[in-house]
Amino acid sequence: MPVTVFFAAGPANWDEYRDPLNAAFAAAGLDVEMADAAPDPEAVDYIVFAPGGIIEDFGPYVNCKAVLNLWAGVERLVINTTLTQPLARMVDWGLTEGMVEYVTGHVLRHHLGMDAHIHGQDGVWRNSVLPPLARERPVAILGLGELGQASARALAGLNFPVMGWSRSPKEIDGIACHSGEDGLVHVLSHAEIVVLLLPLTEDTRDLLNAERLALMPRGAVIINPGRGPLIDDTALLAALDAGRIGHATLDVFRTEPLPPDHPFWAHPKVTVTPHIAADTRPSSSSHVIAENICRGEAGEPFLHLVDRSRGY
Ligand code: NAP
Repeated sequence: MPVTVFFAAGPANWDEYRDPLNAAFAAAGLDVEMADAAPDPEAVDYIVFAPGGIIEDFGPYVNCKAVLNLWAGVERLVINTTLTQPLARMVDWGLTEGMVEYVTGHVLRHHLGMDAHIHGQDGVWRNSVLPPLARERPVAILGLGELGQASARALAGLNFPVMGWSRSPKEIDGIACHSGEDGLVHVLSHAEIVVLLLPLTEDTRDLLNAERLALMPRGAVIINPGRGPLIDDTALLAALDAGRIGHATLDVFRTEPLPPDHPFWAHPKVTVTPHIAADTRPSSSSHVIAENICRGEAGEPFLHLVDRSRGY
């Protein structure tokens, strides 16, 4: 009997993913029937999903062995009380490489002060301001999961002194790891560039509030490719206007797309990127979906399962 996969991640994703997924199923030796509709929910073995997908009520999929999300972030899915099946989030090398490149690129932009030269070509030879070496610029990564650890290692490889912060204590070669409230106070007080790679949960919402922004060294830079609500927007704008925070590079927002009249667009100390830090690539992520279906069919534990009690 073929395995029945319901691709419920929406029509645009269907066009992009149909062929790579079928190729990955074949490469994994799976006999799969995949469609973007499920006339009989009880016949569905696996659901491939993404935010904006076409299922709101997962209840009728009573025989579904797992919901396989194409995105790393699951904050909208973990609050869906009809989704009681095992839920796997996306972890794949394409996503990780994309995030490492985004983080490294934006950290280097601020570290090297590139904007002064890109925007300041006025014929004046200013060679008195030199950036410090990376080894003199402390950087913090909030969130030491798949994406945070890879980004931390890449920055440490460029000689930045990297501090990391996570929920549980960790030991990672070359990274000064911290946890707990004291750990957060320490990293925020010492980092000149702070990168947010936390999931959005009830514990991380508004994490960077006025009080915590006030801990940061004057002129510190924030880079947020995690989730918009990790930062209190009003407090951030006040801290930017007061000069306490030097710049914020933001990829994610409370409302997406970011409304055209939002103050972030026009703010001289804010860079908006439109949630492009790390996209899930069909060519790499299709193999992760196939691997999880192989595991489900063999009765083995699924990869990258979401812990509902933690919310990520
Ligand atoms: P992950 O592997 O689940 O790692 C999450 C990290 O955050 C872990 O280190 C975890 O600590 C830490 N954390 C969670 N709650 C915390 C808390 N209350 N206090 C301190 N640390 C906490 O996630 P990931 O794959 O690295 O992805 C991180 C996030 O990036 C996603 O959730 C998503 O929001 C975002 N993302 C954005 C894009 C984009 O294009 N902008 C793309 C992909 C992902 P423990 O290690 O102790 O569990």
